[in-house]
Amino acid sequence: MTTVPVFLGERSYDVRIEAGLMERAGEALAPFASSRPFLVVTDTHVATAQWPRLAAALERAGLSAELVTLPAGESTKSWQHLEALTDRMIAHGIERRDHVIALGGGVIGDLVGFAASIVKRGCNFVQIPTTLLSQVDSSVGGKTAINSRAGKNLLGAFHQPSLVLIDPDTLDTLGPREVRAGYAEVVKYGLIDDAEFFAWCEANGTALMAGDPEARAHAIARSVAAKATIVAEDERETSGRRALLNLGHTFGHALEAETGFSDRLLHGEGVAAGMALAFGYSVRRGECPPEDAERVVAHLRAVGLPASLADAGVSASGARLVEHMLHDKKMSSGTLPFLLARGIGKTYLAKDVDLADVAAYLDGA
Ligand code: NAD
Repeated sequence: MTTVPVFLGERSYDVRIEAGLMERAGEALAPFASSRPFLVVTDTHVATAQWPRLAAALERAGLSAELVTLPAGESTKSWQHLEALTDRMIAHGIERRDHVIALGGGVIGDLVGFAASIVKRGCNFVQIPTTLLSQVDSSVGGKTAINSRAGKNLLGAFHQPSLVLIDPDTLDTLGPREVRAGYAEVVKYGLIDDAEFFAWCEANGTALMAGDPEARAHAIARSVAAKATIVAEDERETSGRRALLNLGHTFGHALEAETGFSDRLLHGEGVAAGMALAFGYSVRRGECPPEDAERVVAHLRAVGLPASLADAGVSASGARLVEHMLHDKKMSSGTLPFLLARGIGKTYLAKDVDLADVAAYLDGA
């Protein structure tokens, strides 16, 4: 078992990573049991694919649980489902010291975390992430949210979990496209500040995608360690350090918006193409060696991820894509900061970006 601590003073917690951990989840959760059964929140897909494993583990440990199953999909991060879930938690008699369990991908983790942040002015929760994206990114760091009519993740809170249990075997039931999309976030950690890890990805990405257990466990542990370090340094994204985690997200957001935040382009696919575009634009500014940008594109394509506008199925003008970026919540005081790169592992926040130049770049990309 690999344990990655997230150091946040009295809100510190562990992320435990081990194949088959679901079968031992009862032992890990026993210290959080109360006089009430655990409320386990999941979605319809995970209820079929993974809940039976957790239910059996809880039963073996003599722990009782009630399952709340929500529809699968991004639209579950809504007021409607937040209201229904918080009503259910209150009816269950949840106390502030109690723990709700989020079993699922980023959608369930974000919704349950937000619900836990507001019920009784904040109760506890445990994350059991079941997608690669949620294992390497969303379950760690305490960002919780639902979507508003005006955009994604606009209503939320910072609320850290008490524990994160990651069983890479959960990926056995996840579709290959979802695994690939999550892998984009793995590659991201290498590109941000760890060139050696990017080289590891180049050597092992295909094996990981094929389900190699060692490659999976290594990638998850390394990604979680990277995220834990950044979160411990800048929990609330105030110093700019945590903002590095948004590499590829500004370009990616424009692509997701253009494709209607739909199955046409999954979030991780948008991030992949967005990272390739961020590197390409950094080359245009004369800041990044062209061969580094070429390596990024080559690796993303080698694992089947989009690495250009065409790969992402987007033919919109640069001006239109920049319009989408301007609606991104990361815009601050009229300027749009961009994460650009001086090379692989050398990402930085640029605040001097000329949007007309970005549009011209995208027109030729
Ligand atoms: P998701 O939760 O929608 O899961 C993707 C699909 O896989 C769903 O259909 C789900 O039912 C299914 N699924 C999940 N685990 C499965 C398994 N083991 N077997 C079979 N099917 C399974 O999507 P996601 O990609 O995990 O998360 C995306 C969400 O995460 C977005 O809402 C995004 O905003 C959020 N996010 C949050 C953070 C954060 O820091 N809080 C970071 C990145 C992304």
